[in-house]
Amino acid sequence: MPGNPRKRLEKLEQQMAEIARRESAANCNCRTHTLAAAAEYFAAEMNQTCPVHGFRRLGKIMVFNVKIVGKNGDVEERSQGVPELVEEYERRLARHRQQILEEDDSEEL
Ligand SMILES: [Zn+2]
Repeated sequence: MPGNPRKRLEKLEQQMAEIARRESAANCNCRTHTLAAAAEYFAAEMNQTCPVHGFRRLGKIMVFNVKIVGKNGDVEERSQGVPELVEEYERRLARHRQQILEEDDSEEL
């Protein structure tokens, strides 16, 4: 038998209140925009967690190509590997969303 709507609503309200409480108590470090230029910098960003949400949202990720040309003409690709890291982050985000959905499902049983 499916959960009764009143209980569901109460639970939802509790969750919303809990989220609001945590958001005001802790510092959310999620972003709405993230610049991805150097691989090591972006890797550090994507490996951080949010004290409020657990999974840290990086928002819209903008990939910039950065090349540094040395005196001897050598080109150093600073953004090498960035697209792959962005893909990895997108996979993590998708997995995280899937987990949330699965948790909701299991609570219904
Ligand atoms: Zn957050």
